[in-house]
Amino acid sequence: MIRLHSLMVVLGSALMLACSCVFASEDKPPAGMQTVQVTITHAPPAQTVLTCSRTGTPKNVILLVGDGMGLNDLSAAKAALGPAARTHTERSSSVALCSTNSANGPTTDSAAAATALLCGEKANRGSIGQAPDGRPLTSLFVKAKQAGKRTAILTSDEVTEATPAAAYAHVAKRGNDATIARQLLDSDIDLVIGGGRSVFRKLGPSGGAETTGAFLDGIPSNGFRPVQDLDSLRKVDLAEGKVMALLAEDSFDQTSPTNRLDLPAFTRMAIEKLNKSAPNGFLLLVEGTEMDDAAHDGNAALLLNEMVDFDQAVGQALEFAELDKETLVIVTGDHETGGVGLGAKVEQDKAQIAFACDGHTPALVPLMATGVGAPSFHGFIDNTDVAKIISSLMKQRR
Ligand SMILES: [Zn+2]
Repeated sequence: MIRLHSLMVVLGSALMLACSCVFASEDKPPAGMQTVQVTITHAPPAQTVLTCSRTGTPKNVILLVGDGMGLNDLSAAKAALGPAARTHTERSSSVALCSTNSANGPTTDSAAAATALLCGEKANRGSIGQAPDGRPLTSLFVKAKQAGKRTAILTSDEVTEATPAAAYAHVAKRGNDATIARQLLDSDIDLVIGGGRSVFRKLGPSGGAETTGAFLDGIPSNGFRPVQDLDSLRKVDLAEGKVMALLAEDSFDQTSPTNRLDLPAFTRMAIEKLNKSAPNGFLLLVEGTEMDDAAHDGNAALLLNEMVDFDQAVGQALEFAELDKETLVIVTGDHETGGVGLGAKVEQDKAQIAFACDGHTPALVPLMATGVGAPSFHGFIDNTDVAKIISSLMKQRR
């Protein structure tokens, strides 16, 4: 009897605990958990299975990098779309998990991570396109040009920031933005779209920097035609030469309805411009930047909205791959930021998000691949493997 009584007490306590847990999740979110809403600005993801070919070697490669995007960022976007819905990213055919450590520690930053993703070697945190021993590293963008492809970068950040810079720059310190701007002007990237006019102003009006100082006044430099407004960008034909579209003074303000970069729309535009003028194919890097800032600031609403916006940019790339049949689309994060946690309550258009910290974590990040060559990405890989696999696929095509 005593035993039975004890069992009943235990069962009763468990039941009370279970009930209080249920009530807590229905009445108010647990401490630190923010319930946030998403605004969907583009068409919702199609729920059909993609049929684009997976075998062979890709003509075109589209790499979409979500700054700070971990698995729970993706899960939050899925939760907000509704229990039965899939995100665009979930339509991908292959999945891998990437380790992201830098050369000098278990965590990384966008500089070292983008160097790994685009150059295939580990760098120290803060270094771009440069090994710890100072060796300059060759990025996929240089290799793609050698293979006769067009190349392009699209970011809502400054075009000299760490992730895009790993495509073309070699610096020990990511803060050397004037040096990075000069290296961008020296590069052979066909199309650059983002913010950062203020960085180019630092290059000065005279001396060795004469051409770069005049760049913002409309004078081409190293074959780059400067563009500073959307209408001019729309008219651009890449067959006429390289273009750098600096559409904001600094980075875009993704919280502003008027000064934000519509990443899905620009992704579509970049793909169309490249495809029109790239008989040998293209390599496009698309960066979604604000998930990282949102997680650093504990801003769950911005995180969720930026994640859904990034997912819709992924949708544009997948839609092109589905029609084109010769394209590889890769989606990944450079690192996880914030130790993002999710709450139990799921509601349409909403997610419950909490942050374990305000910095970068060593969490594995998901990588999703679709299209030609996608099966090459599977299992546990390192972020340096991403560049190595893409490089190998591009070589096989030649
Ligand atoms: Zn960060």
